[in-house]
Amino acid sequence: MSIGAPLRNVVILGGGTAGWMLAAALSKVFNAKGAVNVTLVESEEIGRVGVGEATIPPITAFNALLGIDEDEFLRETRGSIKLAIEFVDWTRLGHTYFHPFGQFGFDIEAIKFHQFWRKLDLMGRTPGIEAYCLAAVASQLGRFERPPPDPRSPLSALKYAFHFDAALYARYLRRFAEKRGVRRIEGKVADAVQRSDGFIEALVLEDGRRVEGEFFVDCSGFRGLLIEQKLKVGFVDWSHWLPCDRAVATQCESAGASITPFTRATARKAGWQWRIPLQHRIGTGHVFSSAHMSDDEAAATLLANLDGPALVDPWILRFKAGRRKKFWDKNVVALGLAGGFLEPLESTSIHLIQAGITRLLALFPDTAFNPVEAEEYNRLMTSQYERIRDFLILHYYATERNDTEFWNQCRTMSIPDTLRAKIDLFRARGRLFRYEDELFADANWIAVLIGQNFVPEGYDPLVDAVDINAVAQKFERIRDVFERTAAGMPTHRMFLNRAAASGGRP
Ligand code: FAD
Repeated sequence: MSIGAPLRNVVILGGGTAGWMLAAALSKVFNAKGAVNVTLVESEEIGRVGVGEATIPPITAFNALLGIDEDEFLRETRGSIKLAIEFVDWTRLGHTYFHPFGQFGFDIEAIKFHQFWRKLDLMGRTPGIEAYCLAAVASQLGRFERPPPDPRSPLSALKYAFHFDAALYARYLRRFAEKRGVRRIEGKVADAVQRSDGFIEALVLEDGRRVEGEFFVDCSGFRGLLIEQKLKVGFVDWSHWLPCDRAVATQCESAGASITPFTRATARKAGWQWRIPLQHRIGTGHVFSSAHMSDDEAAATLLANLDGPALVDPWILRFKAGRRKKFWDKNVVALGLAGGFLEPLESTSIHLIQAGITRLLALFPDTAFNPVEAEEYNRLMTSQYERIRDFLILHYYATERNDTEFWNQCRTMSIPDTLRAKIDLFRARGRLFRYEDELFADANWIAVLIGQNFVPEGYDPLVDAVDINAVAQKFERIRDVFERTAAGMPTHRMFLNRAAASGGRP
């Protein structure tokens, strides 16, 4: 093991969400102190994917790392609040459930809440589990209020994330990073120069300019210009489990003045459609399997299911579910779509960028590029991707739908052993264990497993040691408190208007 000198020059290739999130984080952590020079190269001509507008709650920690004021953030990105995803027609046609953020109820006598819920459910003494999650109740009422720091307030249980305009988000982060010293170079990268040991020493632009650096982060999107085209690390293909490989996307006008504080994911014949409400428009797209549906049919389905008139012509995006065999090789780390992509369901891609940045900061290399740091980074990121993969597969597999070839294939496919073990354990007595470093917690799994009718046969036997009538009373109180708390919040539109008018945090 060797210790090298601190790195002085970091080069980011690509200015999409990944490139600018990293540039912003590095500028905050290193550049402001003048410790590391950060250069970002991007090409306007090539452009970005231009989608990716829904996030999950850890994004609030990323904003806190940058010291971003949330009201300003909502104003600048024309963003909105996301409390949940509403899943329509996934379990069966006509069925709807929420996957809300945050916990269901509270543990009782150190036993998980959902175990008691299942006992009461079997006795016919409780409504659906959503009634016990504040984010689901507030979603249904279209309301939101920022949770206070006081842990005694029921509102403190509320977890939230954002929807935002992807182009405005990149622009916002760019301003943030450039203000803190990140240098941006406009130009198309034509090649990269490697040393004899394969390390990259410079990018070469089409016009012949060279951009030298010691450490390169490949944020070039699906192309993976450095990680794949240059270093050829290879790809782990998961398309046999996640069969959607295309999306047709557009934006449309919102109908009406209210804005739902949740994303909607509606299952279609050979995939699903997202609906992401922003302040000024709705972002929407149809994710589908090209083996089961043509581009024309997918676009026609999308256009037939818009809230209002389309604002732009639909465009097609192609992808393959999977990840790079290595996220970090030599002096290159791949972040964002350059590192891998599962699919848009559950909005995990921007989170994976954030997870990569956090881990990169924790393992930031020096000029010796100690291989153990890269190995640890690869281990951590592989585990993140694999656990998210299992959670996404669950949505396709746990369905009763038999109305199309696509859903028949999903319902009967073989699934990874790790997911099989998780499902079997849950379906017996509702037991769940979170894997090391797993993004999705028990509450997320419970929402989707129960939402898609993979309800446990029984419950934890320890539940029978607790007086069920007293538990039923507690359940009623929780419901009552959540209903009253949600009803007392402003509407989502009112909250956004207040954020728009405020100069800072209210
Ligand atoms: P890109 O946006 O593709 O950016 C690549 C950058 O590299 C661009 O700046 C480009 O100009 C530059 N570049 C490439 N080649 C060169 C070159 N030769 N020279 C110079 N510059 C170059 N994620 C979520 O979290 N939530 C969602 O709701 C969500 N929805 C999605 C829906 C779809 C259909 C798809 C496909 C993705 C979705 N994602 C979502 C993923 C999300 O869009 C991406 O994670 C995010 O946009 C990051 O992209 P990126 O920065 O890695 O790549």
